[in-house]
Amino acid sequence: MKALLKYPALWKDAAFIGGEWLAQSPHGRYAVCNPANGETLVELPRLGVDAARAAVGAAHEAFLAWRRTTADERAQCLRRWYELIVEHTDDLARLITLEEGKPLAEARGEMKYAASFVRWFSEEARRVRGEIIPAPQASQRIVVTREPVGVAVAITPWNFPAAMITRKAAPALAAGCTMVVKPAEQTPMTALALAELAHRAGIPAGVFNVVTVAGQDAPAVGDALCHDARVRKITFTGSTAVGKILLRHAADGVKKASMELGGNAPFIVFDDADLDAAVDGVMAAKFRNTGQSCIGANRVLVQAGVYDAFARKVVARVAALKVGNGLDDGVQIGPLIDTAAADKSLEHVADARTHGARVLHGGQRHALGACFVEPTVLADMTPSMRVAREETFGPVLPLFRFTTEDEAIALANDTEFGLAAYFYSRDAARIWRVSGRLETGMLGINTGLISNEVAPFGGIKESGLGREGSSHGIDEYTEMKYLCWDGLGA
Ligand code: NAP
Repeated sequence: MKALLKYPALWKDAAFIGGEWLAQSPHGRYAVCNPANGETLVELPRLGVDAARAAVGAAHEAFLAWRRTTADERAQCLRRWYELIVEHTDDLARLITLEEGKPLAEARGEMKYAASFVRWFSEEARRVRGEIIPAPQASQRIVVTREPVGVAVAITPWNFPAAMITRKAAPALAAGCTMVVKPAEQTPMTALALAELAHRAGIPAGVFNVVTVAGQDAPAVGDALCHDARVRKITFTGSTAVGKILLRHAADGVKKASMELGGNAPFIVFDDADLDAAVDGVMAAKFRNTGQSCIGANRVLVQAGVYDAFARKVVARVAALKVGNGLDDGVQIGPLIDTAAADKSLEHVADARTHGARVLHGGQRHALGACFVEPTVLADMTPSMRVAREETFGPVLPLFRFTTEDEAIALANDTEFGLAAYFYSRDAARIWRVSGRLETGMLGINTGLISNEVAPFGGIKESGLGREGSSHGIDEYTEMKYLCWDGLGA
């Protein structure tokens, strides 16, 4: 397996703490598997609470020096990290496909996206500015400075093993914070390869640490990391259920917290849409990462006048999707992350069928194995079905029919989530109206692809708190300090 990489040094079997590779743990090791075939890729040390505390200790010690570096020094380190990530994109993409399953072309796309945050925040590092405010007294000067928050703990999901880390680490390091990353149990290899490159880029020991944690230990390790007094920031991407636990931890220590949580994105196609463009958009918004994207289209709402035509076009496109091992040429749909994820998609299909939905395409487990689900299109969906209420997180495209704009908005907003939404229309007045009424943090208008490093990524309602990327992303890692200086004369 290691031979699949051009630079085998990126294949790690150890955690990275304080600039050292930690290969052993008193708790033994755990296996990381390829979801495409179940093969064990590597065994990693199963770190517990003590090692997590040691990582915080290393990050805390490193913070004392890192916060005193100049913005330019931090920018240079990040720039070198970015260049190394770009140089090693092929290997990093291969690691993503091996441990996560997404098609290699998409893994390369993720690496481009992941690298863009490192470049962006290498530039933003030099633009963290304070303020001078006209004082109420003539003898005073009022100055506001921005300081790094301190040690940040990042807990990240498996679905974007690189980008969910760089979207947090790059702004944190740019601001002068240090970080302990706990990647998902299923996708630590990409995180460790990123650590190797950070080390080679000259990012000092302890500034960027990666702890390898088995799934059954995540609650205890998460608790220890979040309750450590030396940690001042908790940044999480993952499910809303776990986000709520971590927010409670944050509340105990009154810590700054950013939460990128679950979604249930509506994708609305109005009668006046460019139908072919809408089909392109929904294919991208639904089937990216085999449907395992937080901003993936979960409910496709189509106006009655174009419903049948849209359904026909979508079915033709879905029928042509190539399913397989993500490393194979031309594959567009890989395995889901594990059998439980495949089971959940199939349960959603079964629930929809029981309640009257029609299966227009697919609907079964794929012959390739337990983690594979056929790309599926369902019609005649209703709001009480499970697909409408929960993230399906799989390659299942459900079509809901609506008649009026008001009905579409009501259906779209009928969820506790508010991460992303999409709609297609060519009527400028409608575009402004609908944009104002959808309850969402991000909105794709006549596009199914909205993620980039320059725009603020994040949700409202139970989809999260805070924003990542953009010029705002770095604010999450700084604190304002207000200096009131008196006795200066008029
Ligand atoms: P998850 O189950 O919430 O896990 C996310 C991370 O939290 C993993 O590292 C996991 O460790 C860890 N974790 C689980 N329980 C924990 C606990 N009690 N204390 C501390 N850490 C704990 O989510 P997932 O299944 O990996 O990811 C899918 C979810 O992420 C979806 O809901 C998706 O919408 C969301 N997501 C959101 C965004 C966004 O930007 N808003 C982006 C991507 C994904 P283990 O892996 O060891 O269990």
